[in-house]
Amino acid sequence: MIKNERDLIIIGGGVTGAILAYLAAKAGARVILFRISDKNRPFADTLRNHGWMQSGLLYAVSIPREAARMRRWGKLMLDMFNVIPLPGPGIFRMASEARAEKFLQEAARLNIRVELYSEAEAQEIVGAVHESGSFNFAVPDRPFNPADLVDSALIRAEMEGAEIIDLDPGCPVELVRESSEPNGFIVRVGDNLYGAGATVICAGAGTPRLLEQVGAEHRIRVFRSTLLSALDLNLCSASLLVDLDTGLSLVRHPSQVMPGLYHDVIGARNRVLLTSHEAAHRVVTQTEIDDLLRLLPAAYREAIEREGFKVNAGHKTEALNEKDEPTAAPYVEEVKAVGIRQLFVGLPGKATMGLWTAKSLMDLLRLPHSLGPDEEEPKGAARAGHQPNTNGTEQYPKLMHWDYPGEDKREGQNDEGDESIQDGNSEYEN
Ligand SMILES: Cc1cc2nc3c(=O)[nH]c(=O)nc-3n(C[C@H](O)[C@H](O)[C@H](O)COP(=O)(O)OP(=O)(O)OC[C@H]3O[C@@H](n4cnc5c(N)ncnc54)[C@H](O)[C@@H]3O)c2cc1C
Repeated sequence: MIKNERDLIIIGGGVTGAILAYLAAKAGARVILFRISDKNRPFADTLRNHGWMQSGLLYAVSIPREAARMRRWGKLMLDMFNVIPLPGPGIFRMASEARAEKFLQEAARLNIRVELYSEAEAQEIVGAVHESGSFNFAVPDRPFNPADLVDSALIRAEMEGAEIIDLDPGCPVELVRESSEPNGFIVRVGDNLYGAGATVICAGAGTPRLLEQVGAEHRIRVFRSTLLSALDLNLCSASLLVDLDTGLSLVRHPSQVMPGLYHDVIGARNRVLLTSHEAAHRVVTQTEIDDLLRLLPAAYREAIEREGFKVNAGHKTEALNEKDEPTAAPYVEEVKAVGIRQLFVGLPGKATMGLWTAKSLMDLLRLPHSLGPDEEEPKGAARAGHQPNTNGTEQYPKLMHWDYPGEDKREGQNDEGDESIQDGNSEYEN
């Protein structure tokens, strides 16, 4: 069988893979990127997430170093790919004065300006989701459309010469150990074999499985996280509301297929640990849905139950820290396994850190870029209008999960990645 040679193979076309493909192709590498096609249903969790550009405020305590990076690198990423976040206000809410005091200190430490709303202001903005007596701060966190970002990065990668290959879900990339190969393994895609100077796994929830195929030990865990999406009923006018005590998050997004309409995307901290095999499934249990609904104030919950909502499952893929706790910090590493060389992994933890993760992989691969090290103000960041805005082409589907039909997966329903399954909530299929 003929082996196809490239400089760099990238497995995965979510935020990390797409940006890495662009940066590496721009640096002159012959790049090929494989991804399971998102055309009929998204496999990239970047397209199943909350679409919330993190300022770092939520992570000021758990991962302070990364939290300090989030605002700058997230903003730079959106500027670079001409993605415009939704206008505010974004609000963080907490119940006690002591928590509010602590929050102010955390914001000051990150050098982020936050502002406390009065009870009357909060009541007006937060509407049906308001909790009287709570502390509501205006924050710089905002919703953005990750689908715009991925489209833009993939199109630019192609313009720089990268090959982007969409795969059928039934024919994903496999890594096969092969001692006669210079790197100790080969990349198999159906009947085709690929080799490269280096291979990077940016496969999100598919990462553990790929690592296990070459017998590499890893400290990566995948969690299923439920999201509900409901048509925005104008019950809350904040674009983003996060309750720091309960973990409830409510993020508004414009519908891609129904211009002028918005969705509320509702999530929380609740999540379920999966095995690497289960990570192919996206079935949500009724208990997970009920746990999420319970966090909503009665008026809001009754309204969305009456009007209908869709259920989605995303997979949060995180590495364990030295205390064996999963963390949303990015994870960038060369795979260490006997006989395996030039195999790398990149997980951003948060889509917000996609550019930072891709840049760190470029450093590991020793490929040149103009983003500068962490400490410096990035050089060569895209100026407004510097790159052509290629959004709006038909090449990639600019849709988020809540825009896809057939995405209401509850316990008992099938989800084997079969594109023909269309068992969605019919209340308002887009
Ligand atoms: C419910 C939820 C809410 C979230 N909310 C936010 C948020 O608001 N803000 C934020 O910043 N982050 C959020 N995140 C985290 C964020 O979505 C992820 O960290 C980020 O999208 C991961 O990007 P990625 O490129 O690493 O992986 P993904 O986007 O998952 O992409 C993985 C890619 O690998 C491909 N792939 C996998 N296996 C194979 C294979 N064997 N062969 C070929 N291709 C393969 C897939 O097709 C896909 O293209 C959320 C995550 C979840 C689950």
